[in-house]
Amino acid sequence: MTSDVSPSQPLSLFPPARRVKVLLPLPLDSAYDYAVPEGMDVGPGSFVTVPLGGRQIVGIVWDDEPDPDGVPESKLRPVAGVVPVPPLPEASRRFVDRMAAYTLAPPGQVLRMAMSSPKALEPASERTVYTAADPAPKDLRWTSARRRVYALAQEDPPRSAADLAREAGVSSGVVRGLADAGGLLPMRLPDSIFFETPDPDHPRAALSDAQQNIAEEMSRAVLAGGFSVTLLDGVTGSGKTEVYFEAVAAALGAGKKVLVLLPEIALSAQWLERFEERFGTLPAEWHSDLSPGTRRRTWKAVAEGRVQILVGARSALHLPFPDLGLIVVDEEHDGSYKQEEGVIYHARDMAVLRAQISDCPIILASATPSLESLANVEAQRYRLAHLPERHGEAELPQVSLVDLRKTPPPRQRWIAPPLQDALEETLAKGEQALLFLNRRGYAPLTLCRTCGHRIECPDCDAWLVEHRFGRRLECHHCGFSMKTPEKCPSCGDEGSLVACGPGVERLFEEAVAILPEARIEVVTSDTLQGPLAAAAFVDRVTSGEVNLIIGTQIVAKGYHFPLLTLVGVVDADLGLAGGDLRASERTFQLLSQVAGRAGRAGHKGRVLLQTANPNATVLRAIADGDRDGFYAAEADMRRDLGWPPYGKLAAIIVSGEDEGHVERTAGDLARSAPRLDNVRVLGPAAPPLALLRGRHRRRLLLKADRTISIQRVLSDWMSRIKPPSSVRVQIDIDPYSF
Ligand code: ADP
Ligand code: ZN
Repeated sequence: MTSDVSPSQPLSLFPPARRVKVLLPLPLDSAYDYAVPEGMDVGPGSFVTVPLGGRQIVGIVWDDEPDPDGVPESKLRPVAGVVPVPPLPEASRRFVDRMAAYTLAPPGQVLRMAMSSPKALEPASERTVYTAADPAPKDLRWTSARRRVYALAQEDPPRSAADLAREAGVSSGVVRGLADAGGLLPMRLPDSIFFETPDPDHPRAALSDAQQNIAEEMSRAVLAGGFSVTLLDGVTGSGKTEVYFEAVAAALGAGKKVLVLLPEIALSAQWLERFEERFGTLPAEWHSDLSPGTRRRTWKAVAEGRVQILVGARSALHLPFPDLGLIVVDEEHDGSYKQEEGVIYHARDMAVLRAQISDCPIILASATPSLESLANVEAQRYRLAHLPERHGEAELPQVSLVDLRKTPPPRQRWIAPPLQDALEETLAKGEQALLFLNRRGYAPLTLCRTCGHRIECPDCDAWLVEHRFGRRLECHHCGFSMKTPEKCPSCGDEGSLVACGPGVERLFEEAVAILPEARIEVVTSDTLQGPLAAAAFVDRVTSGEVNLIIGTQIVAKGYHFPLLTLVGVVDADLGLAGGDLRASERTFQLLSQVAGRAGRAGHKGRVLLQTANPNATVLRAIADGDRDGFYAAEADMRRDLGWPPYGKLAAIIVSGEDEGHVERTAGDLARSAPRLDNVRVLGPAAPPLALLRGRHRRRLLLKADRTISIQRVLSDWMSRIKPPSSVRVQIDIDPYSF
């Protein structure tokens, strides 16, 4: 071997190893350097196993820029292996980077959302599913659990043992037992899902002129490609879904991929039905109810470009679409798009970022848009597509206020006489009604008549809510629950505990008493878990088995019941208490949406709002149908005060188990706050839940002019303080409550 290395350079026996940066799904600020062993085939986006400390962990090759000033060659550890899944696409990697930069969360923490569960990613090549043995063995012992499993196994598609158990609501032992007894036949299938391509040319309803114009404009934008944001603003029933389906059809026709976000995917049963009617097949789905197997196979199908259209909850934004042709965010104003845990982000805003990265159009649809989106229209950053009227003969419902001071309900009752009359009339005509109360359980407070003790959550600054059907008290913030005590936990008096205030269960009791003929169903997130439960509920209402729905906000969204002509809002003041600056906007949106459930073609609807403040601006605006007036007044107020969307806002949340440490850190933060023009720091103050899950909390707000980069100001500020390890400091850019 000859060498022409000059004597001044150290002699190296091996050429320097190729280096890559690997981002790990951990709250770390940057990617780490690793060496690529000779012959290993990795590139940007590859899923790789690497050593970290004493363990092996799956991360993603972020880029392979050599970084010679990084870790010295001698300390560089090698990549241990490559996980055989498609690489994370460029667009997804850039999304992680930009989302981390915007939210100030560590990129690794954002990446974790994009990786699903790295362990689960490793595809098996085959899986076992079961079909019902036909006929079943004669000597089989039938139990009702076995019957349910057997019935499910007769349906298509064949399911795995885990899915059969989950869907039939039985233990996996039951499924195994039935299989062992010969009632189920195992089948081996490749571990992959096939999604049918929807047919964009399926027959569809003829659109009105207004609908057609908007549909065409949006379809043109899809075909032309390029980033644009359209706010599709139209009253409930105006045909927004119908219209954005045309843009979806245009994308599918051109072979482009589509992502649709819905706020609460468990409630999407009716949406899926309409999709199937329009496109002849179902889209792929993504939400927390998917079984781990379906999750893994869906993730893989998206990564391999086999999914044309997917509908999902906010986490679907992190799916590895190699390219997207259209994003739709339905009910864009919905508060559940805001994720408040871990990486704090707003899925609507991140969807806009995702569309920008994919250079494709995005449609934000709502009957009651967020002030943010309206301000973006006003500033000409977003286009506006407006559908001012309900489709066809359908009229908007007539809304009136019931003044609870003038016509109060009887003692310990919550349905006032005018609402009771309306309910009786409606049910007598064979129509249906909805009683809306945004409170799960029986009563929000349990009080001791003897000593005045209020039963609180041990870990939160909140009362326990009585769930009488389940005989328990529950915390709605942390999930703590206990058996309803017989005596006061404070003074020990027996029989002294009383329920204060109404929840939907208590309203049910009242409705049973005053409307003996009604066929009532209570609907909350407790009762409607998952798309199957939702679909069954829809059936019970459409078939008339149920004619009075008592529900929380879960029934406010999206459902269309043709015979539902009366909506009674039991406590229209509920969302207005508390002094949150977004309370009016939120109440307006929620009540408009609930009201929108009443009335369809041929059946005029009416809405009664029970209130003790009939002069509240929001309620007046809803009763008078003065939507524009409400928005204008709200916008003026925000503009004058410099609140979002006319100024920028971030919350800094300090939390920890030791209240003293938390206070001290919050104080340090306030003292080291930036002193800049057009930036103000407010607080620290105790937020509404000053104790949550055993952690004390304090909050500061940073308020700045629109021209300021609050991310830069915040990073600077945070780098100046060093909180003790017992205290966590979280940043919430654009807080939803303020
Ligand atoms: P939105 O999403 O604005 O609430 P939808 O798209 O759900 O409105 O439409 C409301 C109802 O009106 C649906 O039942 C829908 O099928 C019907 N509809 C809307 N546009 C048309 C149309 N052009 N022809 C027939 N039915 C329509
Ligand atoms: Zn709690």
